[in-house]
Amino acid sequence: MKKSILNYLLLFPMFMITACGQNNKTETKTTKTTAMENVISKPENPYYSNTDTKKLKVTDDEWKKVLSPDLYAVAREADTERAFTGTMWNSETKGTYYCATCGLKLFKSNQKFTSSCGWPSFFEQDNKESIVFKNDNSFGMQRTEALCGRCNSHLGHLFDDGPEPTGKRYCMNAISLDFVPDGVIPNENKGNTETIVLGGGCYWCVEAVYEQLQGVDKVVSGFAGGTVANPSYEEVCTGRTGAAEVVQITYDKTKMNLDEIFQVFFTVHDPTTLNRQGADVGTQYRSVIFYANDEQKKAAESIIAELNGAKVYGSSKIVTTLEPLKAFYKAKDYHQNYYENNKDQPYCQMVIQPKIEKFEKVFKDRLKKK
Ligand SMILES: [Zn+2]
Repeated sequence: MKKSILNYLLLFPMFMITACGQNNKTETKTTKTTAMENVISKPENPYYSNTDTKKLKVTDDEWKKVLSPDLYAVAREADTERAFTGTMWNSETKGTYYCATCGLKLFKSNQKFTSSCGWPSFFEQDNKESIVFKNDNSFGMQRTEALCGRCNSHLGHLFDDGPEPTGKRYCMNAISLDFVPDGVIPNENKGNTETIVLGGGCYWCVEAVYEQLQGVDKVVSGFAGGTVANPSYEEVCTGRTGAAEVVQITYDKTKMNLDEIFQVFFTVHDPTTLNRQGADVGTQYRSVIFYANDEQKKAAESIIAELNGAKVYGSSKIVTTLEPLKAFYKAKDYHQNYYENNKDQPYCQMVIQPKIEKFEKVFKDRLKKK
């Protein structure tokens, strides 16, 4: 296996040298949203799950190892963040709020209201078990502390001055909450399927290649990385969101493995040009592997070291970044299966098709039977 990737690459570096035809990309107004579960991955925090509701018993020493110092101070030492921190307190984006410490679902956006207090405020919790309460007599006040029902971490306080129908105000620390906007697709790594998110420049091209491989169940074009939740294509194109154009590849582990996924990846794009593929320039086109777990990270590190060591790209070093996958956002339907649906477009004929033809030659044994 290890040997074969070198053979492929030495034999046949086939990079994208042409721009992605950005001008041809037009938007349609249709937006489809998908129900979501288990959408955030925090490889550094093994207790984190958006689907497991079983109560956790984890010591503070252990939490200290896996949480950021700021989150630890709020979650485990009942610290309070400054009011008006971040943008969550007045955000009206539709979606779901999870415990940032353990991933438990806490609120839906339709249970939120904009309170002038400067902290994210809700009038109702997702379900009876999601939040538990304790009397808090600190600072000479009698308050009700609100804690996560799964990990028992401090979230904020409950007050009786909220709006109808409950009259309650859940006053939460923004740092204690993870927000996932509607429309995010879960990264499924269960049973025989595994999912990995890769960026190698224009997602139309990368998607078209992986769609053809045996063992690949599904390829979805979208965005990952960056600072903006659920960015639009236009926002990503500005290069200011930090997000990259990526594909989410779901494959059957009994028919395909990570090495093969990477083998194709490092063959069909140029991993040595920083923040660019051909004429497509910007961080949104960076060469990037978004790993969902340690296994993916280690496999990526090892193949990069191997390719660099063998000087597969001559004196150029691989600049592919390895970034933990926080969330994957699906691009609009118009961008899905773009090549398949737009074969007559000049860009597809001139840029994607030649690449596909070369790819088909190199990987002819691995293609899906047509
Ligand atoms: Zn929790």
